[in-house]
Amino acid sequence: MKKIFNFSHTYSKLPPFFYQKIKPQPVKNPKLIEFNLELSKFLNINSNDIDKKVGGLIFSGNHLPDGAQPIAMAYAGHQFGNFVPQLGDGRAILIGELIASNGKRFDIQLKGSGKTAFSRQGDGRSPLGPVIREYIVSEALHYLGLRSTRSLAIVSTGETVLRETPTKGGILTRVASSHIRIGTFEFFFFQKDFKSLKKLADYTINRHFPEFKKNNPYEFLLEKVIKLQASLVAKWMSIGFIHGVMNTDNTSICGETIDYGPCAFMDQYDPNKVFSYIDYAGRYSYVNQGKIILWNLSKFAECIIPLLGENFETSKSKAINCLKKFPRYFEENWLDEMRKKIGLEKKFKEDFNLINDLFKIMKNENFDFTLTFRNLSKILLEEKSTFFEKNINNVKEINNWFTRWNKRLQKENNQKSDIAKKMMKINPIYIPRNHIIESSIKSALDNDFSEMRELLKLIKNPFTEKTKNKKFSIPPKPNEVVSNTFCGT
Ligand code: AMP
Ligand code: MG
Repeated sequence: MKKIFNFSHTYSKLPPFFYQKIKPQPVKNPKLIEFNLELSKFLNINSNDIDKKVGGLIFSGNHLPDGAQPIAMAYAGHQFGNFVPQLGDGRAILIGELIASNGKRFDIQLKGSGKTAFSRQGDGRSPLGPVIREYIVSEALHYLGLRSTRSLAIVSTGETVLRETPTKGGILTRVASSHIRIGTFEFFFFQKDFKSLKKLADYTINRHFPEFKKNNPYEFLLEKVIKLQASLVAKWMSIGFIHGVMNTDNTSICGETIDYGPCAFMDQYDPNKVFSYIDYAGRYSYVNQGKIILWNLSKFAECIIPLLGENFETSKSKAINCLKKFPRYFEENWLDEMRKKIGLEKKFKEDFNLINDLFKIMKNENFDFTLTFRNLSKILLEEKSTFFEKNINNVKEINNWFTRWNKRLQKENNQKSDIAKKMMKINPIYIPRNHIIESSIKSALDNDFSEMRELLKLIKNPFTEKTKNKKFSIPPKPNEVVSNTFCGT
């Protein structure tokens, strides 16, 4: 019989203190709730042999498939600015790596699979609600064209986990290009174990950036991570996404969005928006995400300094020079993303103010982030849209902006209808709105998965409007707004 998974293992070839060998703890009554067939095909998984029963057993960790070699990875990290020398996979277990049909290597990890050496006070488990949230939002980001970890399966465990209140347990099968985080580097840097730090850097380069093997590989690595994160966070900003827990242990080295906790898309535009209710100070608010990623990258740069040469001062200035490039990368990426959103391909200096003035209007008028950009196309197509007419406070200001925008569009030398069509392929109509996620979770906890599945279908084609699914595209009514996401993950 063909094996279900063709696992290989490279991370576990690193020294033993990089991880703990540990098996998932079996659960009482595993049930496969969702299986991502498309992703499983991409990963060359023999999905014909995965029926509900087998899937439940495998993706709960109750049955370890042939070739699996489970490990929990060690890492450290700065959480809300404070250093924690040992975090690690406290409730996640990497069961193996797969080579996908594009030739790239992916980690397959069970999240919520029981205690490990890194669990500290935790129970090693995940409630089903946050598992569903991660599945939906990570897949949504993927289909919106952002780099993200993916989700292969959801299993309910048949067990209760204790959070604010007792709730159903769940396990997510997460797929990542790797689970190496800034915090993984910090783990060895803190211990002044520069030999292991170098091993980790070499492994990272080999796995993700083999093109850097020759000259100054570590400086290239630092610069590459800076570039990847600058482009990723600019993309988050362009879709109104708030990650919510941008700790250094939740910042991936390969530039994927990772660790979906109190994350959400905003409805009404508010630069200071935060969803996580433990983030009192707004450290991880929408508008702070650029600054925070630079802070995280500076922690990564510290870890790389010992690898840049014998002389500390010279190495430090090399690292600082790399970091100094971040603001330019970030602003360029941000501008490129936002230009595309309003139909601009050419670059003019005035674009920065034009875009920022639109954001000011969106803030003053409490416009819905997603619908603002979607309706700009309608205006170009001269389709009926009352979006910019209803409940407006400052009509003059908006009309003024439209005039400036129209003037600027003329410099594109392109038909307005063509511009509008391109904008429709960039500005989604369907994002997983927070109130819909919450209501899907609520129904799912009552064993009704229909809304969750409907939402999962729509986010696969986020740019194609379907008349039938109006509810999923409109902002919440005041009584439906969910402004906090539970942190009880
Ligand atoms: P997170 O907030 O999910 O990024 O997790 C931060 C750290 O806490 C990581 O080391 C996790 O493995 C650990 N952790 C989170 N939840 C649990 C849990 N329920 N049991 C054990 N460890 C946990
Ligand atoms: Mg984490």
